[in-house]
Amino acid sequence: MKRKKPQVVLKNVVITDYAAEGKSLARIDGKVIFVEKVVPGDVVDIKLNKNKKDFAEGFPVHFVEYSKDREEPFCNHFGLCGGCIWQMLPYQKQLQYKHQQVTDSLQRIAKVNLPEIDTIIGATETRYYRNKLEYTFSTKKYVTNEELAVLKKDGNVYEDIAAAGFHARGFFDKVVEIETCHLQEEPTNAIRNAVAAYAKENNISFYDIRNHVGFLRNMMVRLTTTGEIMVNIVVGENYKTTIEQLMQFVLQQFPQITTLLYTINTKFNDSIFDLEPIVVKGNGYITEKLENYQFIISPKSFFQTNTKQAEKLYSITRNFAELDGTQTVYDLYGGTGSIGIFVSNKAKKIIGVELIKEAVDDAKENAKINNLSNAEFFVGDVINICTDDFFEKHGKPDVIITDPPRAGMHEKLVRKLLDMAAPIIVYVSCNPATQARDLALLDEKYTVTKVQPVDMFPHTHHIENVVQLKLK
Ligand code: SAH
Repeated sequence: MKRKKPQVVLKNVVITDYAAEGKSLARIDGKVIFVEKVVPGDVVDIKLNKNKKDFAEGFPVHFVEYSKDREEPFCNHFGLCGGCIWQMLPYQKQLQYKHQQVTDSLQRIAKVNLPEIDTIIGATETRYYRNKLEYTFSTKKYVTNEELAVLKKDGNVYEDIAAAGFHARGFFDKVVEIETCHLQEEPTNAIRNAVAAYAKENNISFYDIRNHVGFLRNMMVRLTTTGEIMVNIVVGENYKTTIEQLMQFVLQQFPQITTLLYTINTKFNDSIFDLEPIVVKGNGYITEKLENYQFIISPKSFFQTNTKQAEKLYSITRNFAELDGTQTVYDLYGGTGSIGIFVSNKAKKIIGVELIKEAVDDAKENAKINNLSNAEFFVGDVINICTDDFFEKHGKPDVIITDPPRAGMHEKLVRKLLDMAAPIIVYVSCNPATQARDLALLDEKYTVTKVQPVDMFPHTHHIENVVQLKLK
């Protein structure tokens, strides 16, 4: 049998700085220790779960003193829910740490010459800012030790409890039962609670993620600033009558839903990208507005989740592109074409590239409803689509806008961008670390000329950052 290493507990550790990815840090004898669930100013006893030569990782087992920067979280589910993990920090502090993380990443990872980094643009609304939430229905409610003690009292055997809500922090199978979430406007909580109550009253099962059985699985709620509501309920079993009755219930209870769909997912994973949502009411999509542009959003398409901040993010992107009506603009990782369309009236031509076919279908439709005649969109992996032939066919790029997922750009694409040598690149990123890595490669030919972080996700540690690069 393998002997367990003794666990190291460090006492009275002063947390001094914010690190990244929601973790803060302490320094002991020159060694950096990354600690989760704490903020700078806390004094804690920590247990180490990783102890390497030059750094360690740990978590708090006892708070000796709380940071004076802490404030009371407003949500009852704080601490258990994997959602807003930064609610214990005042919003101004959250912004300060996000700004600092962008600066740190660009200085330490990119190591390129940097201009002054503009102050992060905060959100005017720090609650109810999300236009999309995805809930999980599960047989495995997360119960705290105190709740468990009550449930097991008098020798009772504890059995799984069904719950609707969000995944518990650090658990893939456990779900925190949510009563009120403050991330999205009503009727989001009303719909989730009503569907869960209806299912329980009618003995409809919730999904068991370990054994892959059960009916109610996930639910996505999308709201627009124009008042539209889309609900897509994902079920794990194809029971026609149960589906019909559930849909009737939702329609009766929530006549304000403009598009109601369901999706049958009998696969082992939660992804619905390879499945066909079935429309029960409405046209199967919703329409959002940014400035005077309209965007249709289908159930499977990506759309920036904070509409108000998306408008600011796109305006910055448009300013950084320095368009005067003569340029050919490539919009890489374009999603539903939203950035390209948003900048289109100042460009000669927009060429969008995106992996997901449905998103490209939306992009084409979006170009149509916004009366664009200068935009084209292509489906495929950027590294396969963006070839010399492609650029030759559609025109030498004057501006390249790139907005990759968290992993950043594929190195092959970065090399291609260096080859193409567009005068301006605008790099929109949701992960400053991978963005910094890519900037280091682009440094061969480009100077970073502007940096503007934007906060799209209050109460979380997630950051959006826009960088302008100019050809040297
Ligand atoms: N610019 C868009 C979408 C940004 S999210 C907006 O602001 O709404 C990143 C997008 O990149 C997603 O739509 C995702 O489907 C797409 N994507 C991810 N990997 C890709 C790849 N290898 N090639 C092309 N698109 C990709």
